[in-house]
Amino acid sequence: MTPTRSTLINTALRRGLCKRCPHCGEGRLFSGWSQPERCSICGVVFARNPGDTWAFTITGDRLPLAAMIVLIYFGVLRSHHVLGLTLLLVLAALVIWTAPNRWGAGIALHYLSRVYWPDPLDAIPPPPATRPR
Ligand SMILES: [Zn+2]
Repeated sequence: MTPTRSTLINTALRRGLCKRCPHCGEGRLFSGWSQPERCSICGVVFARNPGDTWAFTITGDRLPLAAMIVLIYFGVLRSHHVLGLTLLLVLAALVIWTAPNRWGAGIALHYLSRVYWPDPLDAIPPPPATRPR
C-alpha cells in the first residue's frame, strides 16, 4: 500500500527529527557527531553529494536562527542587558542541544525532495516491510 502524500511527509519528518532514517525509520542518521553515508538497515543514501542538504539546513535552520538573534539583540539586549544576554545563552544552549534533530529534519526534507522529484541516477530502495514508526 502506498502512503498518502501527507502521511509520507509527516512520517519522514518525524523520523528525521528523531534522528532516524526517513525511509525506514530504523537506521540511525548519526553515529556520534558524524553522519554515515547510508542507512545501515535499508541502504538508502542520506546525501549523495556533499552539501545536498545545505538548502534545507540554511532555509529551515540558519535563517530562523539569525532572525531570533537579531530580534533578541535589537528587541531586548539593547535596553535590558541581563535579560538579553540570558535569552542569547538560552538560545545558544537550545541550538546546540537540538542540532542533530534539526539536521535530521534537513536530511528528511532532502529525502522527500528525492521521493517527489526522482532522479534515475539516485534510486531510492523500495520501502522495507516494517511496521510504521
Ligand atoms: Zn533506512
